[in-house]
Amino acid sequence: MTPDVATIGLTKSYGQTMALRGLDLQVEAGQAYGFLGPNGAGKSTTIRLLLALQQPTSGHASVVGVDPQRDPVTVHRQVGYLPGDLALYPRLTARRHIAWFAAARGLAGAAAVDLVDRFQVDVDRPVRELSKGNRQKVGLVLAFLGRPRLVLLDEPTTGLDPLMQAEFEALVRETVADGRTVFLSSHELDEVQRVCDRVGIIKEGMLVADDTVEGLRRAAPRRITATFRRPPPEDCFARLTEARVVTRDGCTIELEVTGALGPVLADIARHDPVDLVSRPADLDELFLRMYAGAEPSHVR
Ligand code: ADP
Repeated sequence: MTPDVATIGLTKSYGQTMALRGLDLQVEAGQAYGFLGPNGAGKSTTIRLLLALQQPTSGHASVVGVDPQRDPVTVHRQVGYLPGDLALYPRLTARRHIAWFAAARGLAGAAAVDLVDRFQVDVDRPVRELSKGNRQKVGLVLAFLGRPRLVLLDEPTTGLDPLMQAEFEALVRETVADGRTVFLSSHELDEVQRVCDRVGIIKEGMLVADDTVEGLRRAAPRRITATFRRPPPEDCFARLTEARVVTRDGCTIELEVTGALGPVLADIARHDPVDLVSRPADLDELFLRMYAGAEPSHVR
């Protein structure tokens, strides 16, 4: 089956700035894909290239099986989009925006009723009078209008309160359950963890990880605190590539473990342990480290 989003060597430079450096992405149909990365990593640029709102410097994209540069109309017909810098017509109401979008998509205005209810959109005030979060809700209604096959969302939950955030997450789950595809960018791990099947992490225009949330969690560092009957020798864990001593306090050693646990447990067992505490793998830690620069072992 053709993936709903694929890029090969996608590269974009703005003068001296390399926003994307040979991005290879693949998002299968029926997935919620989280595109995570710090500010300036290249997320918005990628989404704009997928919609042919800009031209790549080199490389290719395919969206719903079509090259957006060659046939943007076919792509736009099947794709809902929420831009990161949502610009609405300030004097028009949400109702007018929706009617206009629905007409452009050949839909009845009633197509939005359900979405308007869900997001409790105030449809009768000019959008300039709405708060940022309330404008964002209008943007979400427009992006999901007409049940598009693929929804591209650039930082979709900006400004949403927790209740609306939960509503948004439910909508993403339903969309995916319906066999459709959601591609959302975010700089927040928590949001992506809650709602996405798969996560791509982009940094400085390159994909530094691409895995399921479970896969990332397996690869994320976990903390193990071992207490021994007597202080173990200084270098007792030095030969382990999987573990790093974080703190050492008399008989207690805290280790950070990445990868297989077996060799670490075997080494601990050798030094007469009396207590052991293992904390779940911390995705935050992995994520922060990727933001900071060190690459994890499971990088593609
Ligand atoms: P993100 O969405 O991950 O925050 P962007 O795709 O917006 O990142 O930006 C990637 C890089 O490209 C940044 O260094 C940004 O400053 C630069 N950039 C984005 N758009 C433009 C533009 N229109 N002109 C010049 N530089 C740009």
